[in-house]
Amino acid sequence: MPHITCQAIVLRHADYREHDRMLTLFSPTLGRVEALCRGCKKIGSPLLACSEFFAFGEYVLYTGKGRMTVTSCNLTESFYPLRSDWDKLKYATYMLSVCEAIVQPNEPNVHLFTLLARSLSRLCYQQKDTKAVTAAFLLHAAAISGYRPRLSHCVKCGRRLDEKEIRHFDSEDGGLVCPECSEMMQRLLSVSPREVHWMQEVLAIGIDKTALPADHAPAALLSAFVEERLEKPVRHKGLF
Ligand SMILES: [Zn+2]
Repeated sequence: MPHITCQAIVLRHADYREHDRMLTLFSPTLGRVEALCRGCKKIGSPLLACSEFFAFGEYVLYTGKGRMTVTSCNLTESFYPLRSDWDKLKYATYMLSVCEAIVQPNEPNVHLFTLLARSLSRLCYQQKDTKAVTAAFLLHAAAISGYRPRLSHCVKCGRRLDEKEIRHFDSEDGGLVCPECSEMMQRLLSVSPREVHWMQEVLAIGIDKTALPADHAPAALLSAFVEERLEKPVRHKGLF
């Protein structure tokens, strides 16, 4: 079957020859895919819109000579308003980079794909705090990838923590650390009870339903936690 039709979001593009681009696509069914998009930079090319960052559509890919080529695309959403808001654009681009580092070729990841599409949509069309949307994205991305943070017990000794004991988070083991265990450890991150409460609630009911203030979202902590697990570094200068 040389032709495959799949949903995908463009994570990255690189110029290739004069009129072409090499796209890095995230497909929920195929994982990360590198595909050549021929002629997309020519004026009036029907493939231009589907070769931009964030483009979300149904791509028809042709496999031949050991590589994939985009033959057509039915664009679902371009998330165009992200381009006119520098702050949102930076965080949305960061989400693409995190996905690129998590998703592997030939590894389907439907949940992460849905999370990315919804998170981009929230940034684009909802009046939600940009950092809180990013924090929720990171929290769910961690849970989907098998690293749901432990937010009620100490990750070292297993003891259940009282609210007033919540001070430290170990990004290596992925959870809270009690005051006794924290004395023997270095490189712990600070966390407050209200930040822990925000993570518990967003994991339970999602960011759309929580009424907790956006400034309770520990975006910097979650970026450190997720990035510790990525195989390649993700640039986030000035974001957190
Ligand atoms: Zn402990």
